Amino acid sequence: MSGETEDTLTGVETTRRSAKAKVDAIGGRKLKPATLMMGHGYDPALSEGALKPPVFLTSTFVFPNAAAGKRHFEGVTGKRPGGAEGLVYSRFNGPNQEILEDRLGIWEGAEDALTFSSGMSAIATLFLSLVRPGDTIVHSGPLYAATETLIARVLGQFGVKWLDFPAGATRAEIDAVLQRAADGGRVALIYLESPANPTNALVDVEAVAASRDAIFADAADKPPIAIDNTFLGPLWSQPLRHGADVVVYSLTKYAGGHSDLVAGGVLGAKPLINTIRAMRNTIGTICDPNTAWMLLRSLETLELRMSRAGDNAAKVCAFLRDHPKVERVGYLGFLAEAEGRQADIYRRHCTGGGSTFSLYLKGGEAEAFRFLDALRIAKLAVSLGGTETLASHPAAMTHLSVADERKQALGITDNLVRISIGVEDADDLIADMEQALAAI
Ligand SMILES: *Cc1c(COP(=O)(O)O)cnc(C)c1O
Repeated sequence: MSGETEDTLTGVETTRRSAKAKVDAIGGRKLKPATLMMGHGYDPALSEGALKPPVFLTSTFVFPNAAAGKRHFEGVTGKRPGGAEGLVYSRFNGPNQEILEDRLGIWEGAEDALTFSSGMSAIATLFLSLVRPGDTIVHSGPLYAATETLIARVLGQFGVKWLDFPAGATRAEIDAVLQRAADGGRVALIYLESPANPTNALVDVEAVAASRDAIFADAADKPPIAIDNTFLGPLWSQPLRHGADVVVYSLTKYAGGHSDLVAGGVLGAKPLINTIRAMRNTIGTICDPNTAWMLLRSLETLELRMSRAGDNAAKVCAFLRDHPKVERVGYLGFLAEAEGRQADIYRRHCTGGGSTFSLYLKGGEAEAFRFLDALRIAKLAVSLGGTETLASHPAAMTHLSVADERKQALGITDNLVRISIGVEDADDLIADMEQALAAI
């Protein structure tokens, strides 16, 4: 949060954060994210001793002097890289958002982070900042439906082209698509989503990075690799460590974690983040102070919540897998003990199977609907990553408008139920599943 310190040479502030708010090691010991979530980036002394940062409800900020105002605008407009050193106007930044961005980046060791009003506004701002008419976006498929719409239907209107490869593609398949894209003009961005929803197919990020580096070895500007890490991040997957340049989040899901807010995030190295920040400054897709405050609250329990939900999902899936009314359970945690390419990707990229999975029941829509209607703890709703367990029917809900052929290709069958496990008692959840399966 803001704290003014005078630069004796220029007479304007140069650091707004007190050093006390940025302690990240004790002795030689680097503090863990779970510890840093309680205080990093905030000095109570700058806010009347308030233990928690106040919500800064203000549209604009008072400059200490005219020279400081000029310097801040140099930062905001990109005349100087790195963003504004001081607070200017709430479309650009604010204390709550800045503290949140500092803490968000910690989990994945990101140099910098930005927060947004939604996952989709984060993705849209990323695209707008990197893609020009005539460019190609190469992406893994399938993507979150709104992201596919944004690329094909919205950016497509502005002359942007796209090519995709299936989420589970091999290095050779990725090479072929990237080469075809490179032959067709400027490739602006490689955009991934892993695991794909609802197939749960994992993308081999290491192979994509190696392929990009090989195919664009002599290119003046290599396309950055961005990845939507909403389903497994930041606890179970950290793609910046596997060759991704930018990580994108719907913070609405696990990071928010209480199904009570909508927000997005983007993490990565400073130069790229600065480019995206400039677009966010222009169009105003920043998250609001109240939502940022709620997310700070949420990040304090992120590791607790995700660990518990992950443990619960492992227990529930072990129960479901052996049930006679269940055809198959698409749960990433099973890959830890499995053979094959997906298991190999899992072991190289993931530290846990998450808590969102696909349940294929024996039967069709009627059986799936009876199961969903019989659930008593799990709520019938879309979304994921909250404290409460949710269940939905992709074919009739999130993917209703997807063409039948594509539904078949993606495994979105009428007997598929998507479940996001929460932090309730695991045995209670199993009892709920058991009685709902009995009701089919
Ligand atoms: C929910 C979601 C989004 C969109 O996020 P919003 O916060 O709803 O805008 C994008 N990607 C994935 C994987 C999601 O689950």
